[in-house]
Amino acid sequence: MIREDILDIKPYVPGKPIEEVKRELGIDDVIKLASNENPLGPSKKAVEAMKEAASGVHIYPHGDCYVLKEALSDRLGVSEEELMFGNGSDDILKFIGEAFVNTGEEVIVAEPSFSEYEFATNIMGGDVVKVPLKDYTHNLSAMLETITDQTKLVFICNPNNPTGTTVTKQEVDSFMAEVPDDVVVVFDEAYKEYVTSDDYPETINYLTDYDNVIILRTFSKIYGLAGLRIGYAISNKELIGYLNRVRPPFEVNSMAQTAAYAALQDQDHLNKSKEINTEGKKYLYQEFERLGLEYVPTETNFILVDVKKDASEVFADMQKQGVIIRNAQAFGYETMIRVTIGTDEQNQRLINTLEQVLA
Ligand SMILES: *Cc1c(COP(=O)(O)O)cnc(C)c1O
Repeated sequence: MIREDILDIKPYVPGKPIEEVKRELGIDDVIKLASNENPLGPSKKAVEAMKEAASGVHIYPHGDCYVLKEALSDRLGVSEEELMFGNGSDDILKFIGEAFVNTGEEVIVAEPSFSEYEFATNIMGGDVVKVPLKDYTHNLSAMLETITDQTKLVFICNPNNPTGTTVTKQEVDSFMAEVPDDVVVVFDEAYKEYVTSDDYPETINYLTDYDNVIILRTFSKIYGLAGLRIGYAISNKELIGYLNRVRPPFEVNSMAQTAAYAALQDQDHLNKSKEINTEGKKYLYQEFERLGLEYVPTETNFILVDVKKDASEVFADMQKQGVIIRNAQAFGYETMIRVTIGTDEQNQRLINTLEQVLA
């Protein structure tokens, strides 16, 4: 009954929800620093807008997110035809697979990187070709050399999840100059708003010279709307048109559209979120150094840290104390954990617990 291509796909296993850990441990005070959510929560303006919108949910949403699209098009300086929205950027990753990948065609990804690129390829029966990171960073020249005439897509997660590293404008410039124009390059910029590096590429500029670029962004991370599921793609009119062919008609719910629109207007919330992330990053770097732990310098709201012990044990011991983090063994790093930068209080609790667990 089942398509062969589906048989090898394993369902995604997310981290345990806070409520479940609370129930299991019989404690109330559980924090989750595992999924790179905004510790400040959503913009208050977004919450207010949703309250107002709640009584209108018997009406179908705008299929193309019209109001939000108009606002974002102004903000980004791209036309409305160059934008499309999905139920999270995960959703758009799936559209990309559906629109471009035939059975047996190749998709190039970095290893380790975000797992959903593999999913989007595998559901279409495509072959994932993995190119190891170099110094925890995408090795763009190796990815370029991996391209064959079977290659349809290259995914560049910038900054990369789970390492927090970025590739520079110079590196991407040279990469784009060499990539064949029938290979689509997807830049996943889920953490773009956190980046402070001067040589981070403004990928929207590539849309002028190249017809094979798709940029993905999301309201799930710095905007604090992960539970609503809304993300978007920026590309040229033609590719956006193809993605719209595989998009179900009312993919983004009206609460998500309303909240994203309000969140976009709340510059204060965005600035505060960046600020506490910068402070938290500084504090955690200091503390990791004090504990003699090496970490990968990050351009995001999460940090990959080497705890120099079996990471699954550290993960389990921390969870018993009510601190949920990510075991990086899933990414091939046996002694590393990935932690989300939280509020001051959460960061202190993270460090205290980690120090105890490692002692
Ligand atoms: C969180 C994340 C996403 C998914 O975002 P949604 O919009 O919530 O689906 C995409 N890419 C990367 C690299 C992420 O870390």
